Amino acid sequence: MIKAFISTLLLTPAFFAIALLLLPWIDDVPAGLKMIRHYASYPLLLLTMLLSLSFNQTRLFFVLYLTAIFLMLILGDVRPPEVFLPIDQFIFIQLVFLFYLLAVLLFLFSKECNIFSVRGFLRLILCTALPVIPLLLAGEHSFFNPDWLSVTIFPQEISQELPLPDVVVVFYLITMCLLLVSLFLKPAAVESSFFGLLTGAGLALYFFPEMAKVEFIFTIALVLVLIFILRNSFYLAYRDELTGLAGRRALREHMNKLGAQYSIAMLDIDFFKKFNDRYGHDVGDQVLKMVANYIARAGGGSKAFRYGGEEFTLVFPGRELKDVKPVLETLREEIAEAKFTVRGKNRPKHKTKKTGKTSASRKSEKITISIGIADSQRTGNTPEEVLKIADKALYRAKKKGRNRVST
Ligand code: GH3
Ligand code: MG
Ligand code: MG
Repeated sequence: MIKAFISTLLLTPAFFAIALLLLPWIDDVPAGLKMIRHYASYPLLLLTMLLSLSFNQTRLFFVLYLTAIFLMLILGDVRPPEVFLPIDQFIFIQLVFLFYLLAVLLFLFSKECNIFSVRGFLRLILCTALPVIPLLLAGEHSFFNPDWLSVTIFPQEISQELPLPDVVVVFYLITMCLLLVSLFLKPAAVESSFFGLLTGAGLALYFFPEMAKVEFIFTIALVLVLIFILRNSFYLAYRDELTGLAGRRALREHMNKLGAQYSIAMLDIDFFKKFNDRYGHDVGDQVLKMVANYIARAGGGSKAFRYGGEEFTLVFPGRELKDVKPVLETLREEIAEAKFTVRGKNRPKHKTKKTGKTSASRKSEKITISIGIADSQRTGNTPEEVLKIADKALYRAKKKGRNRVST
């Protein structure tokens, strides 16, 4: 997870830094390319909207839908209906930006919903109607006092240097801070995309009304959104959601890439069914995560996978059995000595046999694992066959009394 957070934090500025470097050339593109530059964002918007829908990321879908409406208004591809005209373009853009930030915040803190439900339909109507507010407020006879936007918040010297009113800058900074916190907590496609879109929107507003630059920056922001959606689908396919370890599909591909020498270990939690029955599935899940953390940090050049259920696989490329055995013994001891705290919040489903009461308070439980290992040298088999031999060794470890390593 932390990797996804860091990659979003690095990718976003990197993309916009490249965009800024290219900006001086953006104005001078040949006439034929000007059309492409102007309309490039729209197919990207359509593609990202379709992808977000197919991955059930409706919050992202609605924000992209709003981006499309606002972009059409900003680029002048859709003219506001006559009733709203004339409007003050600068005030309009600043208000559009404020409402855009507000909408992103609302969607950031709301839940996903089915677009074909009543709630989804209401959201769609709300997003479609939202641009009407800035149009009304920026009109010539509006009751809105634009001085409100010019309130000075920062010291005079700083305020003069800012390209946007202080109010807009402050609201933008607050939104970005909240976005960074939620990105840290959950660096998934939606949060990363919001971060990319808002960074782009802030930059685009900085360059407004230089339309060539605005168009280009939005295109870059949407390419980023596309990358974040694809990164997420890759993650879904290859990662196990509960433990964050690589999953079975990743293991299969990793095994195909192994050289002549390697070792494979199969690990299985002892008596896990009893543990689940006693404390419930949620506590079982917590323990699985904790054990997975230990396994992921086993070291010795290993890569960890969740094989399925409470079974894990460690692959040691280029290592012989005698190299990996001490690593696995250390791992087994570490887990056996660790105390797994069973928290009261996740109360057991069943009453404990001894007391007849549900043990809601904190309690320390011991967990052990059994391990079977095999290496390529002794057998000269394919990785799949080596894995089966490791599995048989695991079975022997169980038979011999568990909490041990067998070869
Ligand atoms: P042994 O020592 O022989 O390995 O006994 P065991 O009870 O660990 O093995 P068994 O295969 O009988 O049971 C495995 C249990 O793991 C069954 C299932 O309830 C539990 N399990 C599998 N996947 C998950 C999961 O994702 N979450 C939780 N909480 N439990 C799981
Ligand atoms: Mg098992
Ligand atoms: Mg087990």
